Amino acid sequence: MYDINQIRADFPILERTVYGKPLVYLDNGATTQKPRCVVEAITNEYYNTNANVHRGVHFLSQQATELHEASRETVRKFINARSTAEIVFTRGTTESINLLATTFCQSLMEEDDEVIISVMEHHSNIVPWQLQARLWGITLRVIPMNDRGELLLDEYEKLFSPRTKLVCVTHVSNVLGTVNPVKQMIATAHAHGVPVLVDGAQSIPHMRVDVRELDADFYVFSGHKVYGPTGVGVLYGKENWLDRLPPYQGGGEMIQHVSFEKTTFNELPFKFEAGTPDYIGTTGLARALDYVSALGMDNIAAYEHELTTYATRRLKEIPGMRLFGESEQKGSVISFLVGQIHPFDLGTLLDRLGIAVRTGHHCAQPLMTRLGIEGTVRASFGLYNTKEEIDVLVAGIERVRKMF
Ligand code: PMP
Repeated sequence: MYDINQIRADFPILERTVYGKPLVYLDNGATTQKPRCVVEAITNEYYNTNANVHRGVHFLSQQATELHEASRETVRKFINARSTAEIVFTRGTTESINLLATTFCQSLMEEDDEVIISVMEHHSNIVPWQLQARLWGITLRVIPMNDRGELLLDEYEKLFSPRTKLVCVTHVSNVLGTVNPVKQMIATAHAHGVPVLVDGAQSIPHMRVDVRELDADFYVFSGHKVYGPTGVGVLYGKENWLDRLPPYQGGGEMIQHVSFEKTTFNELPFKFEAGTPDYIGTTGLARALDYVSALGMDNIAAYEHELTTYATRRLKEIPGMRLFGESEQKGSVISFLVGQIHPFDLGTLLDRLGIAVRTGHHCAQPLMTRLGIEGTVRASFGLYNTKEEIDVLVAGIERVRKMF
């Protein structure tokens, strides 16, 4: 059912070499490679169906519009949203969060109101809130974690006050791999009458996500991390919340009627989509979601779990190995340090062996501060990685370790 050779054959880049060595791509947390069908969908649209969407009476424009809106339906189905009105296309997770931070704080928050975030957030779920906090006099409260990298839910409960207006938490940590119990955290927030934004950048590629089952008020993700193209992403929001928010950017598409005296805005989701959308990107994204859906998100999750378990066991055999993030529920991300070797040195030397890993703070500096380190090496797996590649990684680390 899960034919790894067939799957790898779908990704042409996996056949290439780096410094004469077969590429071992273990940087899927940063971005994923694209299957041929995604690239072909993009090329095909440029060659055969390219025209600006929504505004045209002509044949091509209508066809491009149909493709674009069909992609919205594909996204809706993929996350089980109630309506396509709840699917806003953005440039990615970062823009989705900035859109929400700007419009939510501007319209629904007052001075001294509070937003709860967690210690393991990516900068893109910290800085947009800080920018708004500075403008409106809002306070950020931070959920702490234990040394295994699990959020402290008792402490989370204690952070709520009558001034809490929003909770923003990542589904899966891009550094620790922790899968946060977001369903439970959402229930807690709702008991306090507070909505929740879930950062799904690291969950959407790896597990089945049902926004209605989670009861998430907002859920955001990037296309490029789920085998789709760069430059396109999604903000899911419950219709009753999106309705209460003002537009983010002004321009074409987002209006109903414009005069110099008064402008009225388009219906959802177009109210939030000013300008020509990346309609080619949305086609690519939809094709990517079709691709992972055909493999089965549960199959992908099971396969990647097996890989991560194997990698964890093998990495632990290496003397001086320190793993960061040993939560009970863990996704396919492993952060580590080996002895006194600087992560940048380890990453650079692994690169010479054809192994692509990420090094540094992974856009999570407050988390690094909590861990008392400057950075880690991070191996993150995707649906096409293999145990053989993990063996190459382990052998590579051993080789570097002996050099030091
Ligand atoms: N949140 C998390 C948890 C991430 O891992 C990332 C990407 N590293 C982002 C947000 C930002 O995603 P993007 O750069 O695609 O907007």
